[in-house]
Order: sequence, then C-alpha cells, then structure tokens
Amino acid sequence: MPKIINGKEISAQIKEELKEKVAEMKKAGISVCLAVIQVGDDPASSVYVGNKKKACAYIGITSLSYELPEETTQEELLALIGELNKRKDVNGILVQLPVPEHISEDAVIRAIAPEKDVDGFHPQSVGALCIGQQGFVSCTPAGIIQLLKRSGIEIAGKECVIIGRSNIVGKPMALLLLRENGTVTVTHSRTKDLKEVTKRADILVAAVGKPRMITREYVKEGAVVIDVGIHRNENNKLCGDVDYDDVAPVCSAITPVPGGVGPMTIAMLMNNCVESAALRQ
Ligand code: NAD
Repeated sequence: MPKIINGKEISAQIKEELKEKVAEMKKAGISVCLAVIQVGDDPASSVYVGNKKKACAYIGITSLSYELPEETTQEELLALIGELNKRKDVNGILVQLPVPEHISEDAVIRAIAPEKDVDGFHPQSVGALCIGQQGFVSCTPAGIIQLLKRSGIEIAGKECVIIGRSNIVGKPMALLLLRENGTVTVTHSRTKDLKEVTKRADILVAAVGKPRMITREYVKEGAVVIDVGIHRNENNKLCGDVDYDDVAPVCSAITPVPGGVGPMTIAMLMNNCVESAALRQ
C-alpha cells in the first residue's frame, strides 16, 4: 500500500512552528496582524473565513474581521483596502473570494499592496515567483511543496505533471516545481492524449476540478499523487479529483481528501502573514 501523505499532521506541525515564532517575535516587540474581508454571506466563504480566524487565534496572530454587506460597492471595498494598506499594524490583507458579481476580482487583487498580499494573487507576486524573486506564493501550491518536502519526496530531476492551469493552483504549482528543479508539464482541458502525458509523471498533481476523474489509467506505477480537488460525492462525503480507492494501490504515495492538501492552504496563509511581519522589520 502507498504512503499516505498526512496533511493534517504536517499542517499541525507547521502551525506549531509558527506559534513558537510568533511568540518570539512578540518578545521582540513585533506583532502579526491579518485583516480578513468578506463581502456578502456565502456560507462556504463564511466557513473558510471562520477557519482562517481560528488558525490566527491559535498561532497568536491578531485578526481583524470586516464582514461587509452584499451591496457594498467596489469603491467602498477598494477604499477599505486602501486604508488597510496604509496601516502599519496590519501585515496581511485577505479578501475572501469570490466577491459578488458587481465587484471586479481583478481590481480587488490589484488594490492590495504587494507587501501585504498574503494570498499571493497580486500580479507583482506572481511575476516575482516567475523570475525567482522574493514575494508571496499562492497558499495551496506552496502547501503542496511543503507536503512533498516534509514527506521526504525528492522533486529535483523528477517528471512532474500538473492537470489544470488555473491562476491559483495549476500555474503557480508549475513555477514552484520548476523552482525545485522538477521537469514540469502542465496539462489542461485542450491537452491531447491526457492519459499518455500523465502516465509519464513521477509526481502527478491533480487540480482539474472534476470529482474522481483521475483513475489508475492516468497514473504510472509507483508515482506520487497529489489531489487538490475538493468535492462532495453522491453521499455528501468529501472526495477529490482522484479516484482514491482505484489509484492508491498503484502509487507510492498519495494525499487523501479530506486531510491532504486542504489543511495546508491555511497553514501556508499563516506562514505568509508571519513572513510579512518579519520582512517589515
Ligand atoms: P479551475 O476550475 O480554475 O481549473 C481547472 C483546470 O482544469 C483548468 O485549467 C482546466 O483547463 C483543467 N481541466 C478541466 N477539465 C479538464 C480535463 N477534462 N482534462 C484536463 N484538464 C482539464 O480549478 P482550480 O481553482 O484550479 O481548482 C481545482 C480543484 O482544486 C477544485 O476542485 C477546487 O475546489 C480545488 N481547490 C482546492 C484547494 C485546497 O485548498 N485544497 C484550493 C483551491 C482549489
């Protein structure tokens, strides 16, 4: 049977390390503060925001919460971001996405000062990642690198195939694997003979957004399989982009859903907040 890559355990370990770091920073007079903005009351967003605030409280990060009504205008939201950009006590600004349709997501992302862009979505952060300069990295792919490293999985020289080319997962994942000296292929909805390409992978990252699409026909024997997808199956249970029961017997390591990639995203967000405060010093 494969090694199960335990994201719950690894994220808990990262949070403990951050808690210690924040306590040390506090002793040196440095505090860490994240501003979290939610527009409207989408239930899934409320759960994500709640989890982020809980993680902040655990680690010792102050969180400022802005719950704005659905009717908030783009101008009002950008004005709030502008104020938070100026505040010296705020290290990170996060606007929970998606925002209501009358607000431009792009305008919101661009409004956040790059030095407070703890989600790593600002074009400057993405550009910095692309050319190997310092900047915040999108939390989910950054978490996947931690999962691999902390599980002792070598990336350098490996064939890495990513299924999906989204701005928040697929593309930054490709850049991060490249930075770790992997040989990277990005596949997408127009890729021909997808199975043939994915079967080359030593490390396969599925971020395709289709429940249990990836069966063992897509996987080389002994590959490491990282499942980014989050879905509810017909019994309302969580499942991923990978058909876990089918793939697990043929791979060497795999992330489960839940308890794999999911918990890493918040841990890396917390890491970015702490880094932002440390860098400002
Ligand atoms: P997305 O919908 O933005 O992107 C999906 C990508 O898959 C696209 O680039 C598309 O080209 C590709 N694709 C679609 N159908 C395909 C096919 N048949 N063959 C090959 N490629 C195909 O999704 P996303 O935002 O990148 O998220 C992907 C999944 O990861 C979703 O299930 C999402 O819920 C999940 N997710 C999880 C976390 C986490 O914290 N674990 C974070 C972000 C996203």
